[in-house]
Amino acid sequence: MTRPTVSRSMVGTLIGFVVVATILLAGGRRDYPSLHTMLDATAAVLSGVLTLFFWEVGRRTTPLSIWFALGFGVTSVVEGVHALVSVEWSGALSAIVAAENTLRPATWPLAAYVLPIAIGSAVWLLRHTQWAASGFALALLGLSAALFPLFLELPRYTSPTWFGITRPTLAVVPFLWVGVGSVCWRSQSADRVLPTMALVAAVLCLGHGSMLYSRAPSDTQAVVAHLGKVTGYLTLLFSLTQMASVDLAERVRAERGLAQLNQDLELRVLERTEELRRSNEDLERFAYVASHDLQEPLRMVGSYLELLKKRYRGKLDADADDFIGFAQDGAVRMQRLIEDLLAYSRVNTRGAGLASTDANVALGRALANLKLATDEASATITHDPLPVLPADQSQLEHVFQNLIGNALKFRGAKPPAIHVTAVQRDGECVFSVRDNGIGIESQYFDRIFVIFQRLHGREEYPGTGIGLAITKRIIERHGGRIWVEAQPGQGSTFFFTLPGIEGSA
Ligand code: ADP
Repeated sequence: MTRPTVSRSMVGTLIGFVVVATILLAGGRRDYPSLHTMLDATAAVLSGVLTLFFWEVGRRTTPLSIWFALGFGVTSVVEGVHALVSVEWSGALSAIVAAENTLRPATWPLAAYVLPIAIGSAVWLLRHTQWAASGFALALLGLSAALFPLFLELPRYTSPTWFGITRPTLAVVPFLWVGVGSVCWRSQSADRVLPTMALVAAVLCLGHGSMLYSRAPSDTQAVVAHLGKVTGYLTLLFSLTQMASVDLAERVRAERGLAQLNQDLELRVLERTEELRRSNEDLERFAYVASHDLQEPLRMVGSYLELLKKRYRGKLDADADDFIGFAQDGAVRMQRLIEDLLAYSRVNTRGAGLASTDANVALGRALANLKLATDEASATITHDPLPVLPADQSQLEHVFQNLIGNALKFRGAKPPAIHVTAVQRDGECVFSVRDNGIGIESQYFDRIFVIFQRLHGREEYPGTGIGLAITKRIIERHGGRIWVEAQPGQGSTFFFTLPGIEGSA
């Protein structure tokens, strides 16, 4: 269950009201014209302030606050008029005094009825249907227009009737506030202002109860009623202020927490990036040293195998010749793996700086290198005009050569048809190399970019499985991304991006 938002100022106001009302009532019936005028004006101002407060909140949150704003708005106008006619104006404003006899008796009761009806129906509407603000405002204005002449006609004071009541026209108001209080209390889950509104309803019920025994505009009972009204409005205002200040404090705390979290996160990302960079460098160095140093003994193995083959071919048994052949094959394969590994480790360390590069030229060179394989496969290779952009030309050439080389290698039954395109998007260039080859199953889309990962045996398709890993490393060195879209048997399209377009060739 939600509790009313209670602040110290709210409790102080309530206690103050009870004490002052008790003193006033204990003092017997007197006339307090000045206090009455002050309280009238205060009630008008406070209901105006509440209108603005609810309006501001309502624009950002619930329709309930807008409806409350409209309820307090109409009330504040009526109370404003009531306060105006309480003053003895002179000069040009004396016309207001002349209207006093018409306006004064009708405005106080009108305000007393309009507010609880507006608050109660707003809460009811929230639970049952949703009205537009304009419809709600019109209904309130209509209600006021209907009640105004009624209160003009009804007698303001009577001689004591049931329970000594002297203002029977207002007898329903305390009951209305009891109803409103219970509706607010029961609906408290719908809006956190409702428990406070229930408390305010209780105060206003007491205040208006006192008014039933008033016999003159400024007598003790009327002043206690006015005090009750002002107390009710004040407690509501304090509660709203308290809510806003709690929200603000929470927001500031949350923002501070978020900023701290962000800072920590940034720091950790920086640390991780540094760690990664260092471990990448270590790996690169390791790969380079290992492959570089392995080359020498491997060359030795290779040349002695060659020597063995030359000297002893046919002199040992047939198995021995085969074994020497296998060993030589292994040495050649190892040589290729080591070269690939070296090439991989050199992408970052031996790459040239990024300079303005015509991608058409890089593609042209790659195609010239692949001429033999292209003719052999009877392949058709086409391309759209490609842009000029900052890149390492020989690495870009390597990328094209690798992707088109793969497209030729992993061809299907039909002669290969390969198309290269480039489109500019969001400040980067998206290249694509499309083929009509064997395609790739989607579960391997990521795996094929990992070093030494292949989907086929060497007998089916030659290779070491490092081509795409090198290509990815080159693209990432340029600040781009690479990915594939493919369907088995339908062909593959490799996409890669390069940032910073300079123009089209
Ligand atoms: P390699 O070509 O030496 O096998 P890559 O790293 O270039 O190594 O390619 C990794 C794997 O990705 C290949 O073994 C192949 O299975 C798959 N692949 C690459 N390009 C294509 C393509 N155009 N069509 C179908 N499969 C491909």
